[in-house]
Amino acid sequence: MRSIAEALAELLPAFTPRGAVRRTLIDALDAISAEDVPARIDLPPFDNSAMDGYAVRARDLQSASAEAPVSLRVTGESRAGGTAAPSVAEGSAVRIFTGAPVPSGADAIVMQEDTERDGDTVRVRVAAQPGAHVRARASDLAAGTPLLRRATRLGPGEIGLLASQGYSAVSVHRAPTVAIVSTGDELRDVSDPPSPGTIVNSNAYALAAQVLDAGGVPWILPNAPDRLDAIARTLREALAADIVVTCGGVSVGEYDLVHDALREVGVEQAFWKVAMKPGKPLSFGIAGAVPVVGLPGNPVSAMVTFELFVRPGIRRMLGDPAPYRSSARVELADSHRRSAGRIELARATLERSGDRLIARMHRLQGSGSLPSMVDVDALLILPADQERFEAGERLSALLLRDRAGTAVCPF
Ligand code: AMP
Ligand code: MG
Repeated sequence: MRSIAEALAELLPAFTPRGAVRRTLIDALDAISAEDVPARIDLPPFDNSAMDGYAVRARDLQSASAEAPVSLRVTGESRAGGTAAPSVAEGSAVRIFTGAPVPSGADAIVMQEDTERDGDTVRVRVAAQPGAHVRARASDLAAGTPLLRRATRLGPGEIGLLASQGYSAVSVHRAPTVAIVSTGDELRDVSDPPSPGTIVNSNAYALAAQVLDAGGVPWILPNAPDRLDAIARTLREALAADIVVTCGGVSVGEYDLVHDALREVGVEQAFWKVAMKPGKPLSFGIAGAVPVVGLPGNPVSAMVTFELFVRPGIRRMLGDPAPYRSSARVELADSHRRSAGRIELARATLERSGDRLIARMHRLQGSGSLPSMVDVDALLILPADQERFEAGERLSALLLRDRAGTAVCPF
């Protein structure tokens, strides 16, 4: 039986990034860039004013002070988006506004607040250093230098920067399609009428939501009954996807036929069973370039194993250099007893208390208890060999939501 770390080390390399596609900026949010992008425009593109005031020659104002202002002749105006202003000759100034080009001859801006205007004359009450309040061309970024590196996650700032450089589209890794194959004679679809002995295939929906949440494209196939030929037929179709996820039928019962079906369609098994709770019967194999993950059918086991193994795989295929969720040290709110043996991933909500994150375990921790997946902020990692956990004890936790326990107004 593999440890979680061993299983990840064996499974993740099979999830290689897919090819690049062009996306318009509006569709690129959260995608990962697939190429280095060079700057093509200096930023700022021209010397411009950071203030409303006057463009001047610093050396004309060397002696200026509140007691002895220096008068300059105003010869024109430079405004953002306007036409070229006259150049600034000795003893003159040009009225200027924020963002407007600095006229030739000028080397500094004096703020309007330090001046007094009288017709064509402006009296300046302060000296100016060369470069004062001038946003110099290329001072933020020079054309030809790197703008964004490959494998950058595109957030609003990156998208704004690309737009500022005249890029309307960007190369990103294609989102993988993830086939979801549910197996079980007992399954009916969510819209089918109830009938004795059947349950709704809730896993297909939970897993599809997890795929979307990870940035993949879910593809739900029709449920396969517990028959070898039916499962194999569905799997053959599913192998057109980038990733195949099955659920159910990977335990040791007579009707657990997924292993046989996987073998039949050419999936080479890499491992079966991982030392964890929930989720022990997890199986993993590869067919050509397609990783195939066999999740256990119990709803919590399916979701937790997806979280641990499939989500980082999808993130890797998207080109994400940091495919894992954030983790944190948290403090147990209450004591807890359990039987030791395997690492356990326990569902918990988090609450912030000063600088501490307090974890409250859900009452239900069974692998079939879907209500225990509601309002989960984190999966607590209970070490394999530990039976007793005391209130206040610190544990590692995988954070399932960015806002876990921390969504409080900091102002
Ligand atoms: P299995 O892994 O096939 O032995 O299934 C374990 C448990 O999970 C059984 O109680 C199944 O009824 C249940 N189960 C399996 N597949 C699903 C599914 N797609 N949706 C909801 N429950 C499921
Ligand atoms: Mg089954």
